[in-house]
Amino acid sequence: MVGGGQLARMTHEAGIPLGIRFKLLCDGPQDSAAQVVQDVVIGDYRDLETLREFAKGCDVVTFDHEHVPTEHLRALEAEGVVIRPGPEALLRAQDKGAMRDALTAIGVPCPRHRIVADPADVAAFAAETGAAAHSASEDGGGRRAGGFPVVLKTVRGGYDGKGVWVVHDTEEAGEPFKAGVPVLAEEKVDFVRELAANVVRSPHGQAVAYPVVESIQVDGVCDTVIAPAPELSAELSARAQQLALTIAGELGVVGHLAVELFETRDGRILVNELAMRPHNSGHWTQDGAVTSQFANHLRAVLDLPLGDPRPRARWTVMANVLGGDYPDMYHAYLHCMARDPGLKIHMYGKDVKPGRKVGHVNTYGDDLADVRERARHAADYLRGTITE
Ligand code: ADP
Repeated sequence: MVGGGQLARMTHEAGIPLGIRFKLLCDGPQDSAAQVVQDVVIGDYRDLETLREFAKGCDVVTFDHEHVPTEHLRALEAEGVVIRPGPEALLRAQDKGAMRDALTAIGVPCPRHRIVADPADVAAFAAETGAAAHSASEDGGGRRAGGFPVVLKTVRGGYDGKGVWVVHDTEEAGEPFKAGVPVLAEEKVDFVRELAANVVRSPHGQAVAYPVVESIQVDGVCDTVIAPAPELSAELSARAQQLALTIAGELGVVGHLAVELFETRDGRILVNELAMRPHNSGHWTQDGAVTSQFANHLRAVLDLPLGDPRPRARWTVMANVLGGDYPDMYHAYLHCMARDPGLKIHMYGKDVKPGRKVGHVNTYGDDLADVRERARHAADYLRGTITE
C-alpha cells in the first residue's frame, strides 16, 4: 500500500487474520502505519523510480491516498505492475474536474459546476447558476444577488476541507487561484444533510453495498457517522446504493469506493466527492458490519470473493477523535473504558496536534440516542473538551 496514514494502518490490521503480507511505502518511520507494518520502504511516492522499486515483488499495489501522480501509475501499469484501483479509474478521484466530467458523462447528478479561470469568471459562473436556479424555480439556497455564494475547489491535493472555499464576492474569490492549480466552481448546494454510499467492487465485477450512512461535518472535517442514515427512505437509500454501484462499474473501480452525497430539500441526491480507498465514512464497519471496509478493500484488490457488508447492530455510530490540548490522550482510557465497556477505541499512534484526526470510536446498540451519546462523550473526553 502506498501511503502510511491511518487507512494503511487499519488495512494492514484487517489483513493479519488472512495472513496477507503487507508492504508499505511511506514518508517516515513515525507514520501511523509504519509503526505497525514490518516491511516498510521510506520514500517519495511522487518519484517514479521509488515507486518502481517498491512495486517489485508485490502482487498488487493499492493506496491510502490519491496523490500519486497519474502518469507514474500509467507507466508502472505499462511495465506489468498490477495497480488497483487502476490509473484511469483513480484519476476520477484524484482530480475533481475529471471526476465531475466522468460523472456528468454517465448521467450522475452533481452540483452545477465548471472550471473557472479567475475571480471575474467566478462572478460570471455565480450569475449563470444564480439565474438558472431562479428560472428553474428551485430553492435558491438563500443565494444573494449575483448568485453568490459559490464553492471553489482546487482540483487536486485537497482533503478534510483544505482546498475548499465558500466565497461570497469577487474579492474573496482570489484566494484559491494563488495555489496555481486549476480551480473548479460549484453552486453551493443547500443540502439537508450529507450521506455516503460505500461500495466495494472486485476485478471479477462482484460488488457489495454497505448501508447508506449520514456523515456530519464540522468545519469541513468529518465528525460523526451514523449507520444507517436515520429516517432515510428505503427508496432513497436504494437509489444512493444503486448510484454508487453504477459509478463503480462505469468507472471500473476496484476496491472500496466512497461516494459522498448531498441530500437536498426536494428529495434529490447529488454527488459531492469520490474516494477510491477505505474512507472515514466507512470506519463504523470495523465494529458494526459483518465485513469491514478494510477487509473488503483487501479482498477486492486481491480478487477474492467479497465479504458480507450487512450491519451487525441496529445502529452504529463513529465519532472522530481530534487532537486537543493534552498531548497524552491515553490518560482518558480509564474513564472511557470504565464508563462504557461496549466502547470500541481505534487510535492511530499519531502525535497529538490540535484539530488533527488521531483516532475514532465506534459504539453500537438498539437505541440511537444512547449510541450517539456514548460515541460523542468518548470522543470529547479523549480530546479533553469535557472532563466528566
Ligand atoms: P475534501 O473532501 O477534499 O475536503 P469536499 O469536496 O468533500 O472536499 O468538501 C468538503 C466539505 O465542504 C463537504 O463535506 C461539504 O460540507 C462542503 N461542500 C463541498 N462542496 C459543496 C457544495 N457544492 N455545496 C455545499 N457544500 C459543499
